Amino acid sequence: MRRHLAALILLAAAPAEAQLCNSASVPIGPDGRALGHFPYGEAAAADLVPAAPGIALGACRLRPEAAADLQRLLTAAAGDPAVQGKLYAFSCHRSLAHQQATFCRTRQSASGSDRAISAAPPGHSEHSSGYALDFTVRPANGCPDAEACMAAKPAFRWLIANAPRFGFEMSFPISNKQNVKWEPWHWRWVGTSATAPGAARARLLFARARAAFPASPAVIPLLPKIAPPPFVPIVAPPRPETKKERRERERRERRARDRT
Ligand SMILES: [Zn+2]
Repeated sequence: MRRHLAALILLAAAPAEAQLCNSASVPIGPDGRALGHFPYGEAAAADLVPAAPGIALGACRLRPEAAADLQRLLTAAAGDPAVQGKLYAFSCHRSLAHQQATFCRTRQSASGSDRAISAAPPGHSEHSSGYALDFTVRPANGCPDAEACMAAKPAFRWLIANAPRFGFEMSFPISNKQNVKWEPWHWRWVGTSATAPGAARARLLFARARAAFPASPAVIPLLPKIAPPPFVPIVAPPRPETKKERRERERRERRARDRT
């Protein structure tokens, strides 16, 4: 049932072509990608919840499972002096219209492919799924939001070291083969384990992306710790005595008795 549902989500998400600004469009590749980005359906409004107060700059709505882990992550970050500032959710779920506006806003100074690597075409953004968000940090100390300089900040080094513990992974790591710009601020939620509530659905949605272009750092499947079995030396079973050996042994035993 879940698999069927996710298949429907994927199919419903795949437009014939990605609509861009000024009615232009980009071709959809055989794997469904547009300018490197996989297609994603838009989460229904009823499936989203607002992030906890104070953890986002502006409005932030996510799937409840992702929102809960985001709150845990940001609470942990707030208690760790290594962050050297305050981490915030910066951009969370985006509607198709919002994504189109985001995409078009970046078009002025770039060619089509450049646009694609700095913002996904509408219908092809992880943000529309309700599982992805962008982080930022305050004070910004001269590094604008959604710029590579963020990667050098202590807060983002903290994210790299800790976000997977809360079920988040970096979708577009440096030098990714997906041909998507390195986005150290962009993370998607897949749950801390495959059995975490909601994780199966998220992992199914991102299955193709995760298989073809692994996130880094990624949420690693946690294998149960199994104690190794105790060491038992193998001892060969004794060889049965031959008749001759038995006669000799009995003779030795008789002689020993006779001496005592
Ligand atoms: Zn993003």
